[in-house]
Amino acid sequence: MCASLGSILVLPVPRRSSVRSVVVVGAGVIGLSCALVLSERGWSVTVISRDDVGSASVDGSASVAAASLWAPTLVERSERVRQWAYVTLAELRRIAAAEPEAGIREQAALTLGEAAWTPDPWMRGFGGPVRDARADELPVGYGAGAVSVVPLIDTARYLPWLHARCRRSEVEVVHRDARSPADAAPDLMHGTPVVIAAGFGSGALVDDPSLTSVRGQIVRMTNPGLTRTVMVRDGALGPLFVVPRFDDVVIGGPSQAESSDIGFDEGLERDLVTRARAIAPALDDATVLGRAVGLRPVRPTVRVERERIGETDVVHCYGHGGAGYALSWGTAVAAADLVEQIG
Ligand SMILES: Cc1cc2nc3c(=O)[nH]c(=O)nc-3n(C[C@H](O)[C@H](O)[C@H](O)COP(=O)(O)OP(=O)(O)OC[C@H]3O[C@@H](n4cnc5c(N)ncnc54)[C@H](O)[C@@H]3O)c2cc1C
Repeated sequence: MCASLGSILVLPVPRRSSVRSVVVVGAGVIGLSCALVLSERGWSVTVISRDDVGSASVDGSASVAAASLWAPTLVERSERVRQWAYVTLAELRRIAAAEPEAGIREQAALTLGEAAWTPDPWMRGFGGPVRDARADELPVGYGAGAVSVVPLIDTARYLPWLHARCRRSEVEVVHRDARSPADAAPDLMHGTPVVIAAGFGSGALVDDPSLTSVRGQIVRMTNPGLTRTVMVRDGALGPLFVVPRFDDVVIGGPSQAESSDIGFDEGLERDLVTRARAIAPALDDATVLGRAVGLRPVRPTVRVERERIGETDVVHCYGHGGAGYALSWGTAVAAADLVEQIG
């Protein structure tokens, strides 16, 4: 039941004999992963969330809007991030094999480029091998591309699965707004640590101006039988991704820097659908199932650290940018280790 990388154990860790309480602010992929790791270690966990992220209709939540792939983007390129990504990869693969209902599967991804794709050194060795696409795999208008196989984490299945796993582990989820770390735990015993895992909302909670939002808009369509992800990273028209999942296809594209507008842009959706149909003509007859806007919490570095704020011991776990799913288990273990260091 456990995945390991070097000396890092993901799950499970032996239960503690005396139960201690901890509050986690945020019920996106980061908050729920932290809650689950802490609960598995024997902590009594209360999650506080402004929104019901388990519902697919929440606008602004990055976790709901993501498709999502194990492919860290918009995040610091450091050794610790690489390590968190590998820990998460191992755990996602373990979950995929053990619990199919979690909505994770390995899926081919074709990245289209003007020139032959050169692996980014930081990404080299991530996941499985990468090969050049054959000419018959390329859509009209593209001369080169690369094919890799990475886990797809179908957020429409994975988030409800995470919620259910938290419920089974007796994690309590309370829907309310927290105005500060102290406000998050008013009814609990003095000394209860608070994990700040509120995505873009963390900046206002702990007064962190270095946290910005990068807006992403997606449209979900019926799946006409696509089985392969297709991505354009750059190019004249900007990024585009077409991600077939278990029950739909998610189409998205531009990462709109420092935008916290969660309103829906109809023109952008028309453009995304037109471009997606050009590279995947089977989508011509597909119909729209839903849409979402998410704010990626971007920071120069992912914040996983301890801080004493007033009378409250805080563990930060936010700022995952475009890599929250790809880093979730790695940072949850790191945050739980910090909680356990609080005396
Ligand atoms: C279009 C798009 C595509 C993406 N694709 C990928 C991908 O392929 N792979 C990948 O790894 N990542 C991807 N990401 C990034 C990933 O989704 C995020 O990094 C991740 O979801 C961040 O999770 P989070 O839990 O920190 O934040 P969120 O999901 O935004 O959750 C924040 C939580 O905090 C709560 N909250 C906020 N403020 C407060 C408050 N004051 N009081 C109480 N609760 C509060 C909210 O209600 C919510 O529960 C994508 C994101 C987008 C938008």
